[in-house]
Amino acid sequence: MSKNLSFSIFTLGCKVNQYESQLIAKGLLEFGFTMKERGGDIYILNSCAVTARADRKARQIIYRAKRERRKLFITGCISPTLLAKLKEDEEITIIPQEQKEQIPGFLREKFSPSPRLALSPREATKIAIGRKRAFVSVQTGCDNFCSYCIVPFLRGKPKSRPPKEVLEEIQQLLQYGFKEIVLCGIRLGKYGRDLEEGISLASLLKEILSWEGDFRIRLSSIEPMDFEEELIGIVTHPKLCPHFHIPLQSGSDKILRAMGRSYSAGEFLSLIEVIRKRIPLVNITTDVIVGFPGESEEDFNQTLNVCEEAEFGKIHIFPFSPRPYTEAAKWDDLPPQIKRERAKVLHSLEEKLSFSFRKKLIGTELWVLLQGRRGNMWEGLSHNYVKIYTEEKPPNEFFWCCGEEIYEGGLKANLRKGGQDNGTLCVLYDSGW
Ligand code: SF4
Repeated sequence: MSKNLSFSIFTLGCKVNQYESQLIAKGLLEFGFTMKERGGDIYILNSCAVTARADRKARQIIYRAKRERRKLFITGCISPTLLAKLKEDEEITIIPQEQKEQIPGFLREKFSPSPRLALSPREATKIAIGRKRAFVSVQTGCDNFCSYCIVPFLRGKPKSRPPKEVLEEIQQLLQYGFKEIVLCGIRLGKYGRDLEEGISLASLLKEILSWEGDFRIRLSSIEPMDFEEELIGIVTHPKLCPHFHIPLQSGSDKILRAMGRSYSAGEFLSLIEVIRKRIPLVNITTDVIVGFPGESEEDFNQTLNVCEEAEFGKIHIFPFSPRPYTEAAKWDDLPPQIKRERAKVLHSLEEKLSFSFRKKLIGTELWVLLQGRRGNMWEGLSHNYVKIYTEEKPPNEFFWCCGEEIYEGGLKANLRKGGQDNGTLCVLYDSGW
């Protein structure tokens, strides 16, 4: 007999995982399951093993599900030690990464949800995504085998989705009313290289950016070695958000070599210079690993110098944690207090850099997507990835405003000064498009 059944999804890790969780949620809603943020009858954990911290969080969710006596299904990246333990537990069902998309069908067969509650694709998509920015994953996998990274072992070789499928999905999301599409991938910059010749992230972008309409595209993380000429050629397109997340990982050439990264700190800085010359107020954000095996005080100081020179708008700081299968896990790990201290020092620099980036935006025009209400303020996200707060209600979902003062982690902005009525022309630079 069919019944009203609810599910809760717990997602750890990267944007690709978030995208895949949204697809699972959408499928379940279309079959008649209902979604609860917490406390559903069924718990789905879309796990991540990229850091020891993510691994710990996964274990906490598993204990919680068991304590609350929920039916638990686990998918995503699972570390080998955790996987071995889970396999012994009969109450837990593991669904391999490559079978993730079959989860809705599998759960429908197992639990027979009520078809009366089934939602249309439009309603299911809106609820599953739950906000105005939609992630679209265009590829998975990586074959770079950086010495610290477990991802290539868990996600396999790069595998791109056919462009037709990606374009149709984005068109559908725009029709449903989504205003910002965030393209993501495990190795986003390698998009298309495993398909036919001539297909690349830049060619995919060119097609999307040529469409009419009130929307914008943001790129998630792109490795510095994948930032090719063709891509640099379109960074100023007015519909492409002037925000690029480019992982630095270390500012020391010695450590970059040990990490298996194929660029030097100097090359990284040159790349940023090229982009910044075209878009002076571009927001470049990054990831840095601190306390990598063999990282001396001098290496760490080089990282600080490169971060300062790169003027990052945000730095995600990861104290090194050895991951199974990886080369770096075999090397001597630095004492935890050194990693903690270096993370603290970098964190103070990060705060300083983020503050001075936002300060530069005071008096400039910002193109903002309204996100909703927070306390007595309206909150939105600017094209260059800064949280924007206004006291007055913005006139449209997309609106223009002028940065006025530093406020919390973002900026307070004025809707009256300098703002254009609406539109898609970016005024941070002369786009030339
Ligand atoms: S490029 Fe390096 S860090 Fe990024 S997913 Fe591939 S192996 Fe991991």
